[in-house]
Amino acid sequence: MSEPDIVCTRCGACCDRPGYVYVSAKEVERIAGYLNLAVEDFTQRYTRLSDNRRRLSLIDSKTGGCAFLDDARQCRIQAVKPRQCADFPWRWRYDEYEEFCAIGRALAQRAQANA
Ligand code: SF4
Ligand code: SF4
Repeated sequence: MSEPDIVCTRCGACCDRPGYVYVSAKEVERIAGYLNLAVEDFTQRYTRLSDNRRRLSLIDSKTGGCAFLDDARQCRIQAVKPRQCADFPWRWRYDEYEEFCAIGRALAQRAQANA
């Protein structure tokens, strides 16, 4: 699901929030390779277990957003970012995402106009 005329502004707001950024084993391999790190090294330095210890997530930064969001609010692993990131907000979203996401605002406006 997407709307060709509604695009991500790459503002970084969705990345600058607390919460799990889940990664699969394949994604870990891909990101580690992109960063020229051994999988074990990457896993130890940049991932954590979810509370139920069933899934692996990227770590948070000191301020609570994703550790891979740089100072310019861009993703340092954009080329290999996890599926969860690529799917937001078209395939999943937070309830309140319209408050911070340009796509959410545009979709809400469109829905109002069409109501
Ligand atoms: S991996 Fe990149 S796109 Fe995904 S939350 Fe982190 S900074 Fe954002
Ligand atoms: S908050 Fe919305 S517009 Fe901003 S980077 Fe995330 S998906 Fe793109």
